[in-house]
Amino acid sequence: MKLYNTLTRKKEEFVPLEENKVKMYVCGPTVYDYIHIGNARPYVIFDTIRRYLEYKGYEVKYIQNFTDVDDKIIKKANEENVSAKEIADRYVLEALKDAQGLNVEPATKNPRVTEEMEHIIEMIETLIKKGFAYEVDGTVYFDTKSFDGYGKLSGKNIDDLEAGARIEVDQKKKSPMDFVLWKPYKPGEPKWESPWGGGRPGWHIECSVMAKTYLGDTIDIHAGGEDLIFPHHENEIAQSEAANGKQFSKYWLHNGFINVDNEKMSKSKGNFFTLREIAKEIPYDVIRFFILNGHYRSPINFSRDLMEAAGNGLDRIKNCVKDINFITLNGKDGKMSDSEKQLLGECVKFKNQFEESMDDDFNTADAVSAIFEFVKFANINVNDNSTKKFAEAILSKVIELCIILGIEPLKEDKDSDTEKIETLIAKRQEAKKEKNWAEADKIRDELTNMGIIIEDTRAGVRWSRK
Ligand code: AMP
Ligand code: ZN
Repeated sequence: MKLYNTLTRKKEEFVPLEENKVKMYVCGPTVYDYIHIGNARPYVIFDTIRRYLEYKGYEVKYIQNFTDVDDKIIKKANEENVSAKEIADRYVLEALKDAQGLNVEPATKNPRVTEEMEHIIEMIETLIKKGFAYEVDGTVYFDTKSFDGYGKLSGKNIDDLEAGARIEVDQKKKSPMDFVLWKPYKPGEPKWESPWGGGRPGWHIECSVMAKTYLGDTIDIHAGGEDLIFPHHENEIAQSEAANGKQFSKYWLHNGFINVDNEKMSKSKGNFFTLREIAKEIPYDVIRFFILNGHYRSPINFSRDLMEAAGNGLDRIKNCVKDINFITLNGKDGKMSDSEKQLLGECVKFKNQFEESMDDDFNTADAVSAIFEFVKFANINVNDNSTKKFAEAILSKVIELCIILGIEPLKEDKDSDTEKIETLIAKRQEAKKEKNWAEADKIRDELTNMGIIIEDTRAGVRWSRK
């Protein structure tokens, strides 16, 4: 299995630190509002990578933090006249609801900054003791010049960075590239006691600390969106490697942006759509499928047309699975025929194609194509003359691949109209039995108006969406 490592700028063979185990850390959202579609991309992508690693037999420890103390959270709290904790608690819950909607497996742990203060203070103390950080009037800075490898992830040169930096307002820093590890308390802000007085941590230190606390000094995979490469991940490497004296993460994975009109979707630009508002119109599984339709490192444009295309693609899979499921219930009893056994043997090519795609830097776009080919094959080969056993075997193979991508084609959305459709079909069957043709036609028209096509087959009534 190969993956593209931002640190080495190459596709590399994946070799975990410990056999069969993967320690993975993914930077999570700052919880001051609902997450937007752009934030949904790392959720879906790194969950899919985790699922694939699990499918390959690795035991994955998956840590994703919540940044629950930050300027934006404090600002929102002041606007609403509530505590920062209330804002953070509210949007942690909302983010978890969205993640569940997207069918993201729960993380091994979602640590929060406010619950990790002791360890944060400990790491800052270590950095000061080792000569990598200094305190000026209650603010602690990381001394970027003291760390030799600064710039290795982003490929930036510290002298160029310094030359390019604007004249610093903050005269207390030794170098404009130095960044804050601890900042002093300002009125109206939450504070924690520390050896440098009351205050709160800077942003970057939390991830170094949480990765160390829950995964250890060296981890296998560190991931996030590509906007985090610099300065966030560069600073994390500096803090962790300076404090621990060991490599921080072996592999660094970064997803590309979701753009709107070729510009990154972001809260600050105002060109964002929250996942929650989109999910009112477009089911979560379609949003997930939309994200999987592109390679995770390529940019994708958010558009209704592309969402609709993703919805149509997913329907093709769902309709196929529903049809095969119908045969598992209504097909022929008894053993599989020889030709069915042969066809079943042929299916291994779809699984191979799927794995080859995923082994090549998690190419979910090609993995989806492998599923589409499997669906085409199943549509041709599973029919009213098939045995239940054959249909069951094909169904479980198609579903196995879908589930690795976090797609569950047999599971209907909670708010979907499936129950209503099936009730109407049952009523129509009743009407036909009673030779009440007018009623049966009326129900068929109602279904047609709902965009449902029904087909009376020897094995029973089948339905699909237009
Ligand atoms: P934030 O709350 O802004 O720190 O973002 C949480 C995660 O979403 C980070 O991994 C970001 O890199 C990622 N992210 C933010 N905006 C986008 C976007 N437009 N496209 C893809 N990923 C994004
Ligand atoms: Zn982080």
